[in-house]
Amino acid sequence: MTILISTSPEQTRQIGYYLGQLLDAGDVICLDGDLGAGKTTFSAGVGEGWGTEHPLTSPTFVIVQQYDRALDRQVLYHLDAYRLDAEGDAESVGLLDIFDANGAVLIEWPEKIRSWLPDDHLWIHFTIDDNDDSRRTLTLQAAGNRSLMLLDVLKAKFGD
Ligand code: ADP
Ligand code: MG
Repeated sequence: MTILISTSPEQTRQIGYYLGQLLDAGDVICLDGDLGAGKTTFSAGVGEGWGTEHPLTSPTFVIVQQYDRALDRQVLYHLDAYRLDAEGDAESVGLLDIFDANGAVLIEWPEKIRSWLPDDHLWIHFTIDDNDDSRRTLTLQAAGNRSLMLLDVLKAKFGD
């Protein structure tokens, strides 16, 4: 487990940007935390670092948003599982197809689809500081070799 502190939206975005540059096909990044904790801010940075052709926006009303990259025709999926409740929901959205599609996957509200997650995933929990409006704690947990590698690189760059 690794803890990173962000003191501004720009910094959260920057950490996301750095991670986005590292992402490969098959990587799964789970982002959880209260509303307003910074998941979408972070995701926007990931999209930018990864190199989406269009800026990444909040997917709340579409559940899954697909982003392309001309460079190598890779795909980044941004998933908001907030509205997914039953296992059947997950099936109808084609979750397994997304995990099989060989893209990188960013997931907001991943706890809703926990049983569907691939074994190897990086989990980032966002917490809002009680005493400081612009401070966020990012708690990173890796489950698997690839996500551990991503965690180690982020720790080396942003940890203290
Ligand atoms: P979520 O997707 O988790 O609901 P958003 O990223 O949409 O959260 O919103 C985060 C809000 O908190 C934004 O309005 C942003 O400007 C603000 N904010 C303040 N400080 C930070 C910080 N350190 N990191 C991320 N967002 C921050
Ligand atoms: Mg959001």
